[in-house]
Amino acid sequence: MAQALQGTVALVTGASSGIGEATARALAERGAQVAVAARRKDRLDALADDIGGLAIEADVTDREQAVGAIETTVKELERLDIVINNAGVMLLGTIVDAPTEEWDRMFDLNVKGLMYVAHAALPHLIKAAENEPRRVADLVNVSSVAGRRVGVGGGVYQATKHAVGVFSEALRQEVTERHVRVALMEPGAVATELTHHMRPEIRDALSSAALGNEILQSEDIADAIAYMVTRPRHMGINEMLIRPTEQV
Ligand code: NDP
Repeated sequence: MAQALQGTVALVTGASSGIGEATARALAERGAQVAVAARRKDRLDALADDIGGLAIEADVTDREQAVGAIETTVKELERLDIVINNAGVMLLGTIVDAPTEEWDRMFDLNVKGLMYVAHAALPHLIKAAENEPRRVADLVNVSSVAGRRVGVGGGVYQATKHAVGVFSEALRQEVTERHVRVALMEPGAVATELTHHMRPEIRDALSSAALGNEILQSEDIADAIAYMVTRPRHMGINEMLIRPTEQV
C-alpha cells in the first residue's frame, strides 16, 4: 500500500532534539522526504543519516538563514508540501526581576523566527497545494498549552505562544481557500531538553512542581502531528491541544 506522504517533501525546524526530531522521524516513516533544520549540525547529520533526510544548519532567528533553510529544501528536494514550525525556547520566570535578554531570545525565536519561516515557505506551499501528489499543503505551528493559559511565572513565554496562535489563525483565514492548511499544535508537558536552557534556580523549582508522574513523550506529539498532516484534502485540523492526562 502507498504510504500517506509518499512523494511529499517536509521541513521540520528545531529537529535536532525533542518534538522536532521525533516529528521528522514520524513524517519520514510515512514516506515524506524530510529536511531537518536547527543549529546543532552534528545532531542533524546523525538524524538525516537515519531517515535518509537533508540536514540544514540554520539559526532561524536570522531572517536570511530562515529564508535559506526554505530555499535549500526546495533546491535540493524540489518541492515543499509540509512545514513543521517547531523551533522554540522557554525561559520561565516572573516579569518583575527578569533579565530582559531572555525576552529577546524568546520573541526572536518563538515569534519572529517562526514568522520568517512561514513567510518564506508560503509561496512553495501554495504551489504544492495546486499540484499532485496531494493537492493540499500543511503548515503546523508549534505553540503550547501556554498559548491558551495565562499565569504567574511564565508571562513572556505565554505571550510568545499567544502570538503564535493569533498569527496562525490570521494566516489560516488568508490561505485556507487555496488548500494550505495552517494548524496549531499545543502540547502540555513533554519530556525534552526544553527546560535545560532556563536559569538553574527556576529549572529546579519547575522539576519539583506537580506535573504528574506521566508526562508526554516527544513521540506522542509527533504521532499527533503526523495525524494532522495525513488527513484527506477536505479536512483541516485547525488546532490540537494535548496534555498529559495528569496535568491540570
Ligand atoms: P527542545 O529544546 O528539545 O527543542 C528545541 C529545538 O529548537 C532544538 O532542536 C533546537 O536546536 C531548536 N532551536 C533552538 N534555537 C534555535 C534557533 N535559533 N534556530 C533554529 N533552531 C533552534 O524542546 P522541545 O522539543 O520541547 O521544543 C519544541 C517546541 O515545542 C518548542 O516550540 C516549544 O516551545 C514547544 N513546546 C514544548 C513543550 C514541552 O513540554 N517540551 C510544551 C509545549 C510546547 P538547536 O539548539 O540545535 O538549534
